[in-house]
Amino acid sequence: MKMISILGSTGSIGISTLNVICSLGDAYKVFGLSCHKNITLLQDQIHQFKPEYAIITDQSSYNLFLKEHGTNLGDTKILFGDEGLNTITSNKNVDTIIAAITGFSCIHPVISAINHNKTILIANKEILVSAGNMIISELRNSKAVMLPIDSEHNALLQIILSSGLEYKINDADYYKAKIKNIIITASGGPFIDYNLNDLKRVNANDAIQHPTWNMGKKISVDSSTMMNKGLEIIEAKTLFNLDIDNIKAIIHRQSKIHAFVEFFDGTVISHMSNPDMRIPISYAITYPERIYSNNKGDFSYKNFSFEEVIYDKFPCYRLARKVAEIGKNTGLILNAANEISVEYFLEDKISYLDIPNIIEDILDSSVVVDHDSLDSIIENDKEIRELTRNYIKTRYS
Ligand code: NDP
Ligand code: MG
Repeated sequence: MKMISILGSTGSIGISTLNVICSLGDAYKVFGLSCHKNITLLQDQIHQFKPEYAIITDQSSYNLFLKEHGTNLGDTKILFGDEGLNTITSNKNVDTIIAAITGFSCIHPVISAINHNKTILIANKEILVSAGNMIISELRNSKAVMLPIDSEHNALLQIILSSGLEYKINDADYYKAKIKNIIITASGGPFIDYNLNDLKRVNANDAIQHPTWNMGKKISVDSSTMMNKGLEIIEAKTLFNLDIDNIKAIIHRQSKIHAFVEFFDGTVISHMSNPDMRIPISYAITYPERIYSNNKGDFSYKNFSFEEVIYDKFPCYRLARKVAEIGKNTGLILNAANEISVEYFLEDKISYLDIPNIIEDILDSSVVVDHDSLDSIIENDKEIRELTRNYIKTRYS
């Protein structure tokens, strides 16, 4: 039996993961769940999956839960915060961790999972962007395995394995010798046909209406600015380590082709599936086998289209590509400034077009350094968040 802990079980990826686990039968069991504030859904999930532990990371939500239920709900023990997450990532009975907490705060439990030699199925891209080198070096010093869930990167993994190559995370020599280019697709988000004037009037509710995927709010805003694709270029760099000129993105509005790999002999292999996160999640859970059965009808091949990404329209994508080339802590700066800007935009405190301007100004005014420890990465992330908050307060309120 495979025991699974889900970091962020109440989110879009968390819910899809539980859905997949249900359909896989008795060979897969939930060991730990976690939420931040959504204790109502967590309670339902505890009743249904009866995990050993459930973790609440928001202090007042935890206090409220404790007041109503005490420290146990049925046989499930309720724990708090990073220490609680540590319990469900380090326990000797756990095999697999799903990293589906949104944002940089997923760093602590993922490092704990690596240090305890777990298999980590990573949906969270923010930590690969902010701390990619450190995560790769921790992986190299452990027996842990990290597999991507993000649909494009999971597609790349599937293409690579189907082509007879091996999955060797971050191995530049290996992949540069075998692969000419990798290309990930982007739907273009809800504003692909908007002009600058239209974008001035966009609000948070418009930005979270994704045309093809149903996701959490933060990643939906990122998809609309195409920051999501920019973060994914850096994520692909961390996982497969080609030169950045050989990692490309193309707009494919239907979200049915997720990635292409171009080989040196001229062959191009693509991965297709309906836009349904249960497909990459299930592949990662049952890897290297394909066990999941989704009962949808036949795949439709109608009207596939491809377009170049227009950089002027998507300044966040341009910024992320620049960062991917510079490296060092610029991914951390980009990510932290973006997380704060998106948070303020969702709270209606800045406008949509402020997002790239703020990120660019923060990138221009921050010190570029290399980090050699987790502590310095965490400290730097805090600094950039504070800098971005202060900048928004003085400049935009
Ligand atoms: P959601 O916003 O739907 O869910 C986020 C989850 O993280 C929830 O369980 C939430 O708890 C929890 N959470 C939020 N903030 C914190 C915090 N500070 N500390 C601990 N837990 C927290 O996000 P998604 O599921 O859409 O995305 C999750 C991750 O997966 C992101 O990094 C995203 O980029 C990535 N991803 C998502 C895809 C998708 O299709 N959704 C596709 C590819 C990647 P609560 O519900 O209580 O707030
Ligand atoms: Mg993706």
